[in-house]
Amino acid sequence: MNIHQIDLNRLKEFETPFYYYDLDLLNETLDRAKAAADKRGFHVHYALKANFNDKVLGLIQSKGFGADCVSGNEVQKSIDSGFPAQQITFAGVGKSDKEINLALDHKIFAFNVESIQELLVINELAAKKQVKAQVSLRINPNVDAHTHHYITTGLDENKFGVPNSELEKAASVLRECGNLELLGLHFHVGSQITDINVFKSLCVKVNEWKNWFEERGTTIKVLNVGGGLGVDYHEPDTHPYADFEAYFEVFDKFLERNAQQEVHFELGRALVAQSGTLVSKVLYTKSGVKKNFLILDAGMTELMRPALYQAFHKIEKLGAEPNAEELNYDVVGPICESSDCFGKEVPLPVSERGDLIAIRTAGAYGEVMASKYNLRDEIRFVFSEDL
Ligand SMILES: *Cc1c(COP(=O)(O)O)cnc(C)c1O
Repeated sequence: MNIHQIDLNRLKEFETPFYYYDLDLLNETLDRAKAAADKRGFHVHYALKANFNDKVLGLIQSKGFGADCVSGNEVQKSIDSGFPAQQITFAGVGKSDKEINLALDHKIFAFNVESIQELLVINELAAKKQVKAQVSLRINPNVDAHTHHYITTGLDENKFGVPNSELEKAASVLRECGNLELLGLHFHVGSQITDINVFKSLCVKVNEWKNWFEERGTTIKVLNVGGGLGVDYHEPDTHPYADFEAYFEVFDKFLERNAQQEVHFELGRALVAQSGTLVSKVLYTKSGVKKNFLILDAGMTELMRPALYQAFHKIEKLGAEPNAEELNYDVVGPICESSDCFGKEVPLPVSERGDLIAIRTAGAYGEVMASKYNLRDEIRFVFSEDL
């Protein structure tokens, strides 16, 4: 159920702030994504770091998605949530020995490896266990994702991936490592990408690198093109679903692959973002010399994206009368940091203490980034089916 369809008095029974998850919307989003991928024979791994709420994860697992993990604990969580080990990938520039050992013990599908040093470490740890680790090489394709610089990951200046200048060496290291098996290549250029041309550019680079390896006699079984598909933060109710058809179609059309080659994706945000809303209560209103402030009981400790990378989230007053008089508010949290602000000069119906405010499109990189800073309460959540 959409947040606006819920009876306000019913919503007020829950202690704020809390995340509200619309499981109907999540269900429909997952079905659309899965259908668009299945139609083309594509494999989709859900990037756990976007949201690992148990109920959300359970629904995603039940639809047959794989899991894309960036820590040992995420690998363990995927296993515990029922994802088959053969559908789990493990990425990240700084995998510890403990994390690698855990993933080896679970016999996961693939390590997405980000340096030659890491290849050698995985080979050594796999040798000790007398197992073979399947790896994909993460290549930095130097494609500009045209997104915020903190969430761009595929440029030469980023810390991710094996530098292009070292790929020749990586290929020869792989031939010498008896406990590694090269599955394929991995790319991920950034997040919240709304310009479909970025993915076209990515396909061109993937084709180039695939050919480069094949010319050197290396078999590439898996092309993993990462995630990054964006959502509409400005109009969540007009565009509740990302355009999965258009997204997968670009790869279907522009990736060159033979019948044996699998194409893998790692979507996070686009699968979960629109299903989550942060619901908060107005604690105080304040009129400064030049500003009107709405002081909420939620802050950067519940939703860090605005403070962390100046992210935009649509802010709405719940239960507002149509045509209500509006004021421009700076909507802020209670945390002792000036960056603890959800939006500046936001036009909202005149509000008062006790009103409920919805911060939309908070299902991805919201609850998972909650912190205990200022010794805040543990984050709460409510599901559509609880209402
Ligand atoms: C974060 C991440 C993803 C998911 O990105 P979204 O923008 O949420 O789709 C996929 N792959 C890797 C390697 C990542 O780090």
